[in-house]
Amino acid sequence: MTLTVAIVGAGPTGLYTFQKLIETKEPLTIWVFEKGDRAGIGMPYTAEKTDRRMLANIASIEIPTLTMSYYDWLKEQPDAILKSYGVEPTTFNVRTFTPRMLLGEYYRAQFVTLVGHAEERGHHVEILEGVEIEDVVPQNNAVQLISTVGVIEQLFDRVILATGHMFPIDEDETDHYYPSPWSGLIDADIPATSVGIMGTSLSAIDAAMAVSCQHGRFKEDGKGDLSYELKDKNSKLAISLLSRSGIVPEADFYCPLPYEPLTVCTEAALTNERSKSTDGLLDRAYVLFAREIETNDPDWAKEIALQKLDADTFHDAYFDRRLKSDPFKWARKNLKEVEENRDARITVAWRYAILRMHEAFEVLYADLCEDDRKRFDRGLKRVFVDNYAAIPPESIRRMLALRDAKILSVASLGEDYGMTVRPEKTIITSNDECYEFEVFIDARGQQALGSKEIPFPTLRKILLDAGPEVTEVGEDYSVIDPPELEGLVSLGAIPFLMHDRPFVQGITACAEIGKAMGHAVRRQATRRRRRVMAACGGPRRKAEPT
Ligand SMILES: Cc1cc2nc3c(=O)[nH]c(=O)nc-3n(C[C@H](O)[C@H](O)[C@H](O)COP(=O)(O)OP(=O)(O)OC[C@H]3O[C@@H](n4cnc5c(N)ncnc54)[C@H](O)[C@@H]3O)c2cc1C
Repeated sequence: MTLTVAIVGAGPTGLYTFQKLIETKEPLTIWVFEKGDRAGIGMPYTAEKTDRRMLANIASIEIPTLTMSYYDWLKEQPDAILKSYGVEPTTFNVRTFTPRMLLGEYYRAQFVTLVGHAEERGHHVEILEGVEIEDVVPQNNAVQLISTVGVIEQLFDRVILATGHMFPIDEDETDHYYPSPWSGLIDADIPATSVGIMGTSLSAIDAAMAVSCQHGRFKEDGKGDLSYELKDKNSKLAISLLSRSGIVPEADFYCPLPYEPLTVCTEAALTNERSKSTDGLLDRAYVLFAREIETNDPDWAKEIALQKLDADTFHDAYFDRRLKSDPFKWARKNLKEVEENRDARITVAWRYAILRMHEAFEVLYADLCEDDRKRFDRGLKRVFVDNYAAIPPESIRRMLALRDAKILSVASLGEDYGMTVRPEKTIITSNDECYEFEVFIDARGQQALGSKEIPFPTLRKILLDAGPEVTEVGEDYSVIDPPELEGLVSLGAIPFLMHDRPFVQGITACAEIGKAMGHAVRRQATRRRRRVMAACGGPRRKAEPT
Protein backbone atom coordinates (compact mmCIF):
# COMPACT_ATOMS: atom_id res chain seq x y z
CA MET A 1 0.00 0.00 0.00
CA THR A 2 1.31 3.48 -0.83
CA LEU A 3 1.79 5.52 2.31
CA THR A 4 0.36 9.03 2.26
CA VAL A 5 2.35 11.56 4.25
CA ALA A 6 1.64 15.22 4.97
CA ILE A 7 4.37 17.74 5.78
CA VAL A 8 2.84 20.78 7.45
CA GLY A 9 5.22 23.72 7.08
CA ALA A 10 7.81 23.99 4.31
CA GLY A 11 10.74 25.73 5.97
CA PRO A 12 14.18 24.14 6.44
CA THR A 13 12.85 21.38 8.73
CA GLY A 14 10.12 20.48 6.23
CA LEU A 15 12.70 20.42 3.43
CA TYR A 16 15.16 18.13 5.20
CA THR A 17 12.21 15.87 6.03
CA PHE A 18 11.17 15.83 2.37
CA GLN A 19 14.76 15.08 1.31
CA LYS A 20 14.86 12.03 3.60
CA LEU A 21 11.36 10.84 2.67
CA ILE A 22 12.06 10.69 -1.05
CA GLU A 23 15.09 8.45 -0.49
CA THR A 24 12.71 5.54 0.19
CA LYS A 25 12.43 3.02 -2.62
CA GLU A 26 8.71 2.38 -2.10
CA PRO A 27 6.68 5.13 -3.76
CA LEU A 28 5.04 7.57 -1.36
CA THR A 29 2.33 10.16 -1.78
CA ILE A 30 3.60 13.33 -0.14
CA TRP A 31 1.50 16.43 0.45
CA VAL A 32 3.29 19.62 1.44
CA PHE A 33 1.26 22.41 3.06
CA GLU A 34 2.75 25.90 3.36
CA LYS A 35 0.78 28.85 4.65
CA GLY A 36 3.14 31.33 2.99
CA ASP A 37 3.03 32.07 -0.74
CA ARG A 38 6.19 30.11 -1.55
CA ALA A 39 6.98 26.71 -0.10
CA GLY A 40 10.57 25.85 0.76
CA ILE A 41 11.83 29.07 2.34
CA GLY A 42 10.98 29.21 6.03
CA MET A 43 10.04 32.02 8.35
CA PRO A 44 13.40 33.80 8.98
CA TYR A 45 14.30 33.77 5.29
CA THR A 46 11.14 35.17 3.65
CA ALA A 47 10.89 38.70 2.28
CA GLU A 48 7.98 39.39 4.66
CA LYS A 49 10.13 38.83 7.75
CA THR A 50 13.54 40.04 6.72
CA ASP A 51 15.21 42.45 4.34
CA ARG A 52 18.17 42.20 2.02
CA ARG A 53 20.68 43.40 4.61
CA MET A 54 19.87 41.03 7.46
CA LEU A 55 22.51 38.34 7.63
CA ALA A 56 22.22 34.65 8.40
CA ASN A 57 24.65 33.61 11.13
CA ILE A 58 25.43 30.36 9.33
CA ALA A 59 27.70 30.07 6.29
CA SER A 60 27.76 27.48 3.52
CA ILE A 61 30.42 25.38 5.26
CA GLU A 62 27.94 24.54 8.03
CA ILE A 63 24.70 24.27 6.05
CA PRO A 64 23.68 20.65 5.45
CA THR A 65 23.49 20.08 1.71
CA LEU A 66 20.19 19.30 -0.01
CA THR A 67 20.88 18.64 -3.72
CA MET A 68 23.93 20.93 -3.92
CA SER A 69 25.87 22.97 -1.38
CA TYR A 70 24.88 26.55 -0.74
CA TYR A 71 28.34 27.64 -1.93
CA ASP A 72 27.96 25.81 -5.27
CA TRP A 73 24.51 27.30 -5.69
CA LEU A 74 25.87 30.80 -4.98
CA LYS A 75 28.56 30.27 -7.63
CA GLU A 76 25.82 29.62 -10.19
CA GLN A 77 24.00 32.87 -9.46
CA PRO A 78 24.50 35.85 -11.79
CA ASP A 79 26.85 38.52 -10.41
CA ALA A 80 24.06 41.10 -10.55
CA ILE A 81 21.87 38.99 -8.26
CA LEU A 82 24.68 38.47 -5.75
CA LYS A 83 25.52 42.17 -5.79
CA SER A 84 21.88 43.06 -5.21
CA TYR A 85 22.22 41.18 -1.90
CA GLY A 86 25.54 42.84 -1.08
CA VAL A 87 27.55 39.66 -1.82
CA GLU A 88 30.77 40.40 -3.67
CA PRO A 89 30.96 37.79 -6.50
CA THR A 90 34.77 37.71 -6.65
CA THR A 91 35.50 37.27 -2.96
CA PHE A 92 32.79 35.19 -1.29
CA ASN A 93 33.77 31.76 0.01
CA VAL A 94 32.35 28.88 2.06
CA ARG A 95 32.60 30.94 5.24
CA THR A 96 30.93 34.09 3.92
CA PHE A 97 27.81 35.18 5.78
CA THR A 98 25.07 36.11 3.35
CA PRO A 99 21.65 37.74 3.77
CA ARG A 100 18.91 35.48 5.09
CA MET A 101 16.75 36.29 2.06
CA LEU A 102 19.41 34.90 -0.30
CA LEU A 103 19.64 31.74 1.79
CA GLY A 104 15.85 31.50 1.50
CA GLU A 105 16.16 31.61 -2.29
CA TYR A 106 18.65 28.73 -2.10
CA TYR A 107 16.19 26.69 -0.05
CA ARG A 108 13.37 27.50 -2.46
CA ALA A 109 15.47 26.44 -5.47
CA GLN A 110 16.51 23.26 -3.67
CA PHE A 111 12.90 22.45 -2.87
CA VAL A 112 11.90 22.78 -6.53
CA THR A 113 14.79 20.47 -7.54
CA LEU A 114 13.91 17.95 -4.82
CA VAL A 115 10.30 17.81 -6.02
CA GLY A 116 11.62 16.95 -9.50
CA HIS A 117 13.81 14.20 -8.02
CA ALA A 118 10.85 12.85 -6.04
CA GLU A 119 8.72 12.53 -9.15
CA GLU A 120 11.56 10.89 -11.11
CA ARG A 121 11.77 8.29 -8.33
CA GLY A 122 8.06 7.50 -8.59
CA HIS A 123 6.73 9.46 -5.62
CA HIS A 124 3.58 11.50 -6.04
CA VAL A 125 3.88 15.04 -4.67
CA GLU A 126 1.11 17.57 -4.01
CA ILE A 127 2.17 21.08 -2.98
CA LEU A 128 -0.38 23.43 -1.49
CA GLU A 129 1.00 26.95 -1.10
CA GLY A 130 -0.95 29.67 0.66
CA VAL A 131 -2.81 26.97 2.59
CA GLU A 132 -2.64 26.96 6.38
CA ILE A 133 -3.49 23.85 8.34
CA GLU A 134 -5.85 24.84 11.14
CA ASP A 135 -6.54 21.49 12.76
CA VAL A 136 -5.08 18.01 12.95
CA VAL A 137 -7.72 15.37 13.66
CA PRO A 138 -6.55 11.79 14.30
CA GLN A 139 -9.25 9.22 13.46
CA ASN A 140 -9.27 5.44 12.87
CA ASN A 141 -5.53 5.03 12.47
CA ALA A 142 -5.27 7.95 10.06
CA VAL A 143 -5.20 11.73 10.31
CA GLN A 144 -7.51 14.30 8.78
CA LEU A 145 -6.36 17.85 8.18
CA ILE A 146 -8.55 20.93 8.26
CA SER A 147 -7.18 23.88 6.35
CA THR A 148 -8.03 27.47 5.53
CA VAL A 149 -9.51 26.19 2.26
CA GLY A 150 -11.62 23.55 4.00
CA VAL A 151 -11.33 19.91 5.00
CA ILE A 152 -8.62 18.06 3.08
CA GLU A 153 -10.42 14.98 1.77
CA GLN A 154 -7.29 12.87 1.64
CA LEU A 155 -6.62 11.01 4.91
CA PHE A 156 -2.96 10.74 5.93
CA ASP A 157 -1.05 7.78 7.31
CA ARG A 158 1.44 10.16 8.92
CA VAL A 159 1.41 13.90 9.53
CA ILE A 160 4.73 15.66 10.08
CA LEU A 161 4.43 18.98 11.87
CA ALA A 162 7.32 21.21 10.80
CA THR A 163 5.56 24.46 11.58
CA GLY A 164 8.64 26.17 12.99
CA HIS A 165 8.67 29.36 14.97
CA MET A 166 5.68 30.68 16.90
CA PHE A 167 5.97 34.22 18.14
CA PRO A 168 3.38 36.26 20.06
CA ILE A 169 0.39 36.96 17.88
CA ASP A 170 0.29 40.04 15.70
CA GLU A 171 -2.93 41.32 17.31
CA ASP A 172 -0.83 42.63 20.21
CA GLU A 173 0.98 44.90 17.78
CA THR A 174 0.38 48.66 17.64
CA ASP A 175 2.34 51.51 16.03
CA HIS A 176 4.13 51.81 19.37
CA TYR A 177 4.63 48.19 20.39
CA TYR A 178 5.93 45.21 18.40
CA PRO A 179 5.68 41.90 20.32
CA SER A 180 8.43 40.49 18.11
CA PRO A 181 10.67 41.95 15.39
CA TRP A 182 8.72 39.84 12.87
CA SER A 183 5.28 41.20 13.65
CA GLY A 184 5.02 43.84 10.96
CA LEU A 185 8.20 45.76 11.81
CA ILE A 186 9.76 45.26 8.38
CA ASP A 187 6.89 47.10 6.64
CA ALA A 188 6.18 49.64 9.37
CA ASP A 189 7.10 53.33 9.27
CA ILE A 190 8.95 53.90 12.52
CA PRO A 191 9.24 57.57 13.47
CA ALA A 192 12.61 59.10 14.40
CA THR A 193 12.03 58.87 18.11
CA SER A 194 13.07 56.90 21.20
CA VAL A 195 13.06 53.21 20.27
CA GLY A 196 13.59 50.48 22.88
CA ILE A 197 14.56 46.99 21.78
CA MET A 198 14.41 44.22 24.36
CA GLY A 199 17.33 41.89 23.69
CA THR A 200 20.89 42.23 22.43
CA SER A 201 21.08 39.21 20.11
CA LEU A 202 21.46 39.26 16.33
CA SER A 203 17.67 39.65 16.05
CA ALA A 204 17.80 42.75 18.25
CA ILE A 205 20.65 44.22 16.20
CA ASP A 206 18.67 43.42 13.03
CA ALA A 207 15.67 45.24 14.49
CA ALA A 208 17.92 48.26 15.16
CA MET A 209 19.09 48.03 11.54
CA ALA A 210 15.52 47.87 10.23
CA VAL A 211 14.67 51.06 12.12
CA SER A 212 17.89 52.95 11.39
CA CYS A 213 17.78 52.20 7.65
CA GLN A 214 14.48 54.11 7.47
CA HIS A 215 16.25 57.26 8.66
CA GLY A 216 19.70 57.07 7.16
CA ARG A 217 22.21 54.87 5.42
CA PHE A 218 25.37 52.89 6.01
CA LYS A 219 28.43 53.98 4.01
CA GLU A 220 31.70 52.12 3.49
CA ASP A 221 34.81 54.18 2.80
CA GLY A 222 37.72 53.08 0.59
CA LYS A 223 39.49 51.46 3.57
CA GLY A 224 36.53 49.24 4.44
CA ASP A 225 35.38 51.28 7.46
CA LEU A 226 31.64 51.49 7.92
CA SER A 227 29.76 54.57 9.04
CA TYR A 228 26.11 55.54 9.39
CA GLU A 229 24.66 58.84 8.28
CA LEU A 230 21.24 60.21 9.22
CA LYS A 231 19.18 61.76 6.41
CA ASP A 232 18.09 64.52 8.76
CA LYS A 233 20.92 65.80 10.96
CA ASN A 234 18.35 67.05 13.51
CA SER A 235 16.68 63.67 13.75
CA LYS A 236 15.66 62.55 17.25
CA LEU A 237 16.26 58.88 16.55
CA ALA A 238 17.69 57.15 19.63
CA ILE A 239 17.76 53.35 19.80
CA SER A 240 18.45 51.46 23.04
CA LEU A 241 19.19 47.76 23.25
CA LEU A 242 18.09 46.45 26.64
CA SER A 243 18.98 43.26 28.46
CA ARG A 244 19.59 41.98 31.97
CA SER A 245 23.38 41.98 31.62
CA GLY A 246 23.87 44.66 28.96
CA ILE A 247 26.30 42.34 27.19
CA VAL A 248 26.32 42.35 23.39
CA PRO A 249 27.19 39.26 21.31
CA GLU A 250 30.70 38.60 20.09
CA ALA A 251 31.69 38.09 16.47
CA ASP A 252 31.75 34.64 14.93
CA PHE A 253 35.29 33.27 15.23
CA TYR A 254 37.42 31.23 12.88
CA CYS A 255 37.63 27.50 13.67
CA PRO A 256 38.16 24.21 11.85
CA LEU A 257 34.97 22.69 10.43
CA PRO A 258 33.71 20.02 10.69
CA TYR A 259 34.55 19.94 14.39
CA GLU A 260 37.73 18.22 15.51
CA PRO A 261 37.07 15.56 18.17
CA LEU A 262 37.21 16.50 21.84
CA THR A 263 39.81 14.81 23.99
CA VAL A 264 38.38 14.78 27.53
CA CYS A 265 34.72 15.78 27.47
CA THR A 266 33.90 13.15 24.87
CA GLU A 267 30.52 11.61 24.19
CA ALA A 268 31.75 8.35 25.77
CA ALA A 269 32.95 10.14 28.92
CA LEU A 270 29.63 11.96 29.30
CA THR A 271 27.65 8.77 28.61
CA ASN A 272 29.63 7.14 31.39
CA GLU A 273 28.70 9.95 33.79
CA ARG A 274 25.07 9.71 32.75
CA SER A 275 25.06 6.01 33.61
CA LYS A 276 25.78 6.87 37.26
CA SER A 277 23.37 8.62 39.63
CA THR A 278 21.67 11.84 38.55
CA ASP A 279 22.94 13.22 41.84
CA GLY A 280 25.94 15.40 41.10
CA LEU A 281 25.72 14.84 37.34
CA LEU A 282 26.21 18.51 36.46
CA ASP A 283 29.25 18.77 38.73
CA ARG A 284 30.81 15.61 37.28
CA ALA A 285 30.19 16.85 33.74
CA TYR A 286 31.68 20.21 34.68
CA VAL A 287 34.90 18.48 35.76
CA LEU A 288 35.20 17.08 32.22
CA PHE A 289 34.32 20.49 30.77
CA ALA A 290 37.03 22.21 32.81
CA ARG A 291 39.63 19.57 31.99
CA GLU A 292 38.85 19.93 28.28
CA ILE A 293 39.48 23.67 28.49
CA GLU A 294 42.64 23.18 30.53
CA THR A 295 43.94 20.67 27.96
CA ASN A 296 43.15 22.91 24.99
CA ASP A 297 44.15 26.28 26.40
CA PRO A 298 46.20 26.16 29.62
CA ASP A 299 47.06 29.88 29.40
CA TRP A 300 43.45 30.97 29.29
CA ALA A 301 42.63 28.49 32.05
CA LYS A 302 45.24 30.22 34.21
CA GLU A 303 44.00 33.66 33.20
CA ILE A 304 40.47 32.98 34.46
CA ALA A 305 41.73 30.95 37.47
CA LEU A 306 39.89 27.87 36.23
CA GLN A 307 41.15 25.77 39.15
CA LYS A 308 39.05 27.81 41.56
CA LEU A 309 35.84 27.69 39.49
CA ASP A 310 32.92 25.28 39.45
CA ALA A 311 29.68 24.74 37.53
CA ASP A 312 28.09 27.69 39.34
CA THR A 313 30.93 30.20 39.13
CA PHE A 314 32.45 29.53 35.70
CA HIS A 315 30.05 31.92 33.99
CA ASP A 316 30.98 34.75 36.38
CA ALA A 317 34.62 34.42 35.38
CA TYR A 318 33.71 34.02 31.70
CA PHE A 319 31.69 37.26 31.59
CA ASP A 320 33.59 39.19 34.27
CA ARG A 321 35.77 41.42 32.10
CA ARG A 322 33.00 42.02 29.59
CA LEU A 323 30.61 43.13 32.30
CA LYS A 324 33.16 45.61 33.58
CA SER A 325 33.90 46.95 30.13
CA ASP A 326 31.93 49.34 27.93
CA PRO A 327 30.02 46.98 25.56
CA PHE A 328 31.01 48.91 22.44
CA LYS A 329 34.70 49.08 23.40
CA TRP A 330 34.62 45.35 24.01
CA ALA A 331 32.86 44.76 20.67
CA ARG A 332 35.48 46.83 18.82
CA LYS A 333 38.34 44.90 20.40
CA ASN A 334 36.65 41.57 19.78
CA LEU A 335 35.93 42.44 16.15
CA LYS A 336 39.57 43.33 15.53
CA GLU A 337 40.75 40.08 17.10
CA VAL A 338 38.24 37.98 15.14
CA GLU A 339 39.11 39.62 11.82
CA GLU A 340 42.84 39.20 12.38
CA ASN A 341 42.38 35.56 13.38
CA ARG A 342 40.15 34.92 10.38
CA ASP A 343 42.76 36.35 7.99
CA ALA A 344 45.57 34.38 9.65
CA ARG A 345 43.36 31.27 10.15
CA ILE A 346 44.04 31.22 13.86
CA THR A 347 41.62 29.47 16.19
CA VAL A 348 41.26 30.60 19.80
CA ALA A 349 41.49 27.24 21.54
CA TRP A 350 39.24 27.88 24.54
CA ARG A 351 36.46 29.30 22.36
CA TYR A 352 36.61 26.29 20.07
CA ALA A 353 36.57 23.87 23.01
CA ILE A 354 33.41 25.47 24.44
CA LEU A 355 31.77 25.52 21.01
CA ARG A 356 32.34 21.81 20.51
CA MET A 357 31.09 20.94 24.00
CA HIS A 358 27.69 22.63 23.72
CA GLU A 359 26.16 19.77 21.75
CA ALA A 360 27.38 17.16 24.24
CA PHE A 361 25.90 19.17 27.09
CA GLU A 362 22.60 19.46 25.27
CA VAL A 363 22.32 15.66 25.28
CA LEU A 364 23.15 15.66 28.98
CA TYR A 365 20.51 18.30 29.77
CA ALA A 366 17.60 15.88 29.57
CA ASP A 367 19.23 13.77 32.30
CA LEU A 368 19.82 16.59 34.76
CA CYS A 369 17.63 16.74 37.83
CA GLU A 370 15.52 19.83 38.34
CA ASP A 371 18.02 21.60 40.61
CA ASP A 372 20.88 20.93 38.21
CA ARG A 373 18.83 22.21 35.28
CA LYS A 374 18.22 25.45 37.13
CA ARG A 375 21.91 25.75 37.95
CA PHE A 376 22.80 25.00 34.33
CA ASP A 377 20.29 27.59 33.03
CA ARG A 378 21.71 30.24 35.36
CA GLY A 379 25.34 29.51 34.54
CA LEU A 380 26.86 27.29 31.88
CA LYS A 381 23.93 27.61 29.48
CA ARG A 382 24.62 31.35 29.16
CA VAL A 383 28.24 30.60 28.36
CA PHE A 384 27.34 28.09 25.65
CA VAL A 385 24.71 30.38 24.11
CA ASP A 386 27.11 33.32 24.09
CA ASN A 387 29.72 31.17 22.39
CA TYR A 388 27.65 29.43 19.70
CA ALA A 389 25.35 32.39 18.99
CA ALA A 390 28.29 34.57 17.94
CA ILE A 391 27.16 36.78 15.08
CA PRO A 392 28.54 37.77 11.67
CA PRO A 393 31.36 40.33 12.05
CA GLU A 394 29.49 42.57 9.60
CA SER A 395 26.60 42.83 12.08
CA ILE A 396 29.05 44.01 14.76
CA ARG A 397 30.44 46.61 12.34
CA ARG A 398 26.92 47.91 11.72
CA MET A 399 26.23 48.06 15.44
CA LEU A 400 29.44 50.04 15.96
CA ALA A 401 28.60 52.39 13.08
CA LEU A 402 25.27 53.18 14.76
CA ARG A 403 27.10 53.76 18.01
CA ASP A 404 29.60 56.11 16.37
CA ALA A 405 26.69 58.05 14.88
CA LYS A 406 25.35 58.42 18.46
CA ILE A 407 22.15 56.61 17.56
CA LEU A 408 22.62 53.43 19.60
CA SER A 409 23.08 52.72 23.29
CA VAL A 410 22.94 49.59 25.44
CA ALA A 411 21.31 49.46 28.87
CA SER A 412 21.77 46.81 31.52
CA LEU A 413 18.52 46.25 33.43
CA GLY A 414 19.68 43.75 36.06
CA GLU A 415 17.64 40.75 37.18
CA ASP A 416 14.59 42.69 38.42
CA TYR A 417 13.06 45.13 36.04
CA GLY A 418 9.51 46.21 35.34
CA MET A 419 7.87 46.71 31.98
CA THR A 420 4.60 48.54 31.38
CA VAL A 421 3.17 48.65 27.88
CA ARG A 422 0.87 51.65 27.44
CA PRO A 423 -0.97 52.48 24.20
CA GLU A 424 1.42 55.33 23.37
CA LYS A 425 4.65 54.27 25.08
CA THR A 426 6.46 51.50 26.93
CA ILE A 427 8.04 52.17 30.30
CA ILE A 428 10.90 50.11 31.68
CA THR A 429 11.96 50.52 35.29
CA SER A 430 15.13 49.02 36.66
CA ASN A 431 17.16 49.80 39.76
CA ASP A 432 16.78 53.57 40.03
CA GLU A 433 16.38 54.11 36.29
CA CYS A 434 13.19 54.69 34.35
CA TYR A 435 13.25 54.45 30.55
CA GLU A 436 10.38 55.55 28.31
CA PHE A 437 10.14 54.51 24.68
CA GLU A 438 7.71 55.78 22.11
CA VAL A 439 8.35 52.64 20.05
CA PHE A 440 9.18 49.31 21.67
CA ILE A 441 10.24 46.06 20.00
CA ASP A 442 10.46 42.84 21.96
CA ALA A 443 13.33 40.88 20.39
CA ARG A 444 13.88 38.26 23.08
CA GLY A 445 13.53 35.36 20.67
CA GLN A 446 11.65 32.10 20.67
CA GLN A 447 10.25 30.82 23.97
CA ALA A 448 9.77 27.11 24.70
CA LEU A 449 6.13 26.09 24.24
CA GLY A 450 4.08 23.21 25.67
CA SER A 451 1.05 21.15 24.64
CA LYS A 452 -1.36 23.91 25.58
CA GLU A 453 0.18 26.11 22.87
CA ILE A 454 -0.19 23.51 20.08
CA PRO A 455 -2.05 25.51 17.41
CA PHE A 456 -4.34 22.62 16.33
CA PRO A 457 -7.40 22.39 18.65
CA THR A 458 -8.23 18.67 18.29
CA LEU A 459 -4.64 17.53 18.61
CA ARG A 460 -4.08 19.95 21.50
CA LYS A 461 -7.04 18.50 23.41
CA ILE A 462 -5.84 14.93 22.90
CA LEU A 463 -2.36 15.86 24.13
CA LEU A 464 -3.63 17.78 27.15
CA ASP A 465 -6.04 14.97 28.08
CA ALA A 466 -3.07 12.60 28.00
CA GLY A 467 -1.43 14.60 30.78
CA PRO A 468 2.06 15.95 30.24
CA GLU A 469 2.45 19.69 29.81
CA VAL A 470 5.30 19.08 27.40
CA THR A 471 4.46 16.91 24.41
CA GLU A 472 6.28 13.57 24.67
CA VAL A 473 8.13 12.64 21.51
CA GLY A 474 10.41 9.73 20.68
CA GLU A 475 13.94 10.03 19.37
CA ASP A 476 12.52 10.31 15.88
CA TYR A 477 10.11 13.07 17.00
CA SER A 478 7.04 10.80 16.76
CA VAL A 479 4.43 11.81 19.30
CA ILE A 480 4.30 8.88 21.73
CA ASP A 481 1.88 10.01 24.39
CA PRO A 482 -0.98 9.12 24.21
CA PRO A 483 -0.12 5.82 22.50
CA GLU A 484 -3.06 6.20 20.07
CA LEU A 485 -1.04 8.92 18.28
CA GLU A 486 2.03 6.73 17.91
CA GLY A 487 3.01 6.36 14.27
CA LEU A 488 0.52 9.01 13.17
CA VAL A 489 1.98 12.38 14.13
CA SER A 490 5.56 13.69 14.26
CA LEU A 491 6.34 16.93 16.05
CA GLY A 492 9.41 18.68 14.68
CA ALA A 493 8.41 22.26 15.45
CA ILE A 494 11.31 23.88 17.31
CA PRO A 495 9.42 25.73 20.11
CA PHE A 496 7.94 22.42 21.34
CA LEU A 497 11.35 20.74 21.51
CA MET A 498 13.16 23.41 23.48
CA HIS A 499 12.29 22.15 26.98
CA ASP A 500 14.98 19.53 27.05
CA ARG A 501 17.09 20.80 24.14
CA PRO A 502 18.12 24.30 25.09
CA PHE A 503 20.25 24.85 21.97
CA VAL A 504 17.88 23.32 19.40
CA GLN A 505 17.48 26.40 17.19
CA GLY A 506 19.48 26.56 13.98
CA ILE A 507 19.65 25.03 10.54
CA THR A 508 21.85 22.12 11.57
CA ALA A 509 19.21 21.14 14.14
CA CYS A 510 16.52 21.42 11.42
CA ALA A 511 18.46 18.94 9.28
CA GLU A 512 18.86 16.47 12.15
CA ILE A 513 15.17 16.70 13.08
CA GLY A 514 13.98 16.49 9.47
CA LYS A 515 16.12 13.46 8.70
CA ALA A 516 14.89 11.64 11.81
CA MET A 517 11.24 12.40 10.98
CA GLY A 518 11.66 11.38 7.34
CA HIS A 519 13.28 8.13 8.41
CA ALA A 520 10.55 7.38 10.95
CA VAL A 521 7.84 7.13 8.32
CA ARG A 522 9.15 3.70 7.40
CA ARG A 523 10.76 2.66 10.67
CA GLN A 524 9.79 4.19 13.93
CA ALA A 525 12.33 4.40 16.74
CA THR A 526 11.20 2.89 19.99
CA ARG A 527 13.34 4.66 22.53
CA ARG A 528 12.12 7.82 24.17
CA ARG A 529 14.03 11.00 23.57
CA ARG A 530 12.66 13.01 26.45
CA ARG A 531 13.18 11.63 29.89
CA VAL A 532 11.19 12.31 33.01
CA MET A 533 13.01 14.80 35.19
CA ALA A 534 14.35 13.07 38.28
CA ALA A 535 14.84 14.55 41.70
CA CYS A 536 18.49 14.94 42.71
CA GLY A 537 19.72 11.78 44.36
CA GLY A 538 17.39 9.69 42.22
CA PRO A 539 18.03 6.05 41.37
CA ARG A 540 20.73 4.96 38.96
CA ARG A 541 19.48 4.78 35.44
CA LYS A 542 21.04 3.08 32.51
CA ALA A 543 22.16 5.81 30.10
CA GLU A 544 21.10 5.44 26.53
CA PRO A 545 23.88 5.81 24.01
CA THR A 546 23.53 9.11 22.18
C1 LIG B 1 14.72 35.80 12.87
C2 LIG B 1 15.42 34.49 12.92
C3 LIG B 1 16.65 34.36 12.31
C4 LIG B 1 17.29 33.14 12.30
N1 LIG B 1 18.50 33.05 11.70
C5 LIG B 1 19.14 31.88 11.69
C6 LIG B 1 20.41 31.76 11.05
O1 LIG B 1 20.94 32.73 10.54
N2 LIG B 1 21.03 30.56 11.07
C7 LIG B 1 20.46 29.47 11.66
O2 LIG B 1 21.06 28.39 11.64
N3 LIG B 1 19.27 29.56 12.27
C8 LIG B 1 18.61 30.72 12.31
N4 LIG B 1 17.40 30.81 12.94
C9 LIG B 1 16.87 29.62 13.60
C10 LIG B 1 15.72 28.95 12.84
O3 LIG B 1 15.15 28.12 13.80
C11 LIG B 1 16.06 28.04 11.67
O4 LIG B 1 16.99 28.65 10.86
C12 LIG B 1 14.87 27.61 10.77
O5 LIG B 1 14.18 28.68 10.20
C13 LIG B 1 13.85 26.72 11.43
O6 LIG B 1 13.20 26.06 10.37
P1 LIG B 1 11.78 25.43 10.50
O7 LIG B 1 11.43 24.87 9.18
O8 LIG B 1 11.74 24.53 11.66
O9 LIG B 1 10.84 26.64 10.87
P2 LIG B 1 10.43 27.93 10.00
O10 LIG B 1 11.60 28.48 9.30
O11 LIG B 1 9.70 28.80 10.97
O12 LIG B 1 9.44 27.34 8.93
C14 LIG B 1 8.17 26.83 9.25
C15 LIG B 1 7.29 26.96 8.03
O13 LIG B 1 6.02 26.42 8.34
C16 LIG B 1 5.00 27.27 7.84
N5 LIG B 1 3.82 27.03 8.67
C17 LIG B 1 3.70 27.29 10.00
N6 LIG B 1 2.49 26.90 10.44
C18 LIG B 1 1.84 26.39 9.38
C19 LIG B 1 0.54 25.83 9.22
N7 LIG B 1 -0.30 25.71 10.24
N8 LIG B 1 0.17 25.41 7.99
C20 LIG B 1 1.02 25.52 6.93
N9 LIG B 1 2.26 26.06 7.04
C21 LIG B 1 2.66 26.47 8.25
C22 LIG B 1 5.60 28.65 7.97
O14 LIG B 1 4.98 29.56 7.09
C23 LIG B 1 7.06 28.40 7.62
O15 LIG B 1 7.30 28.52 6.24
C24 LIG B 1 16.72 32.02 12.96
C25 LIG B 1 15.49 32.16 13.60
C26 LIG B 1 14.84 33.38 13.57
C27 LIG B 1 13.52 33.50 14.25
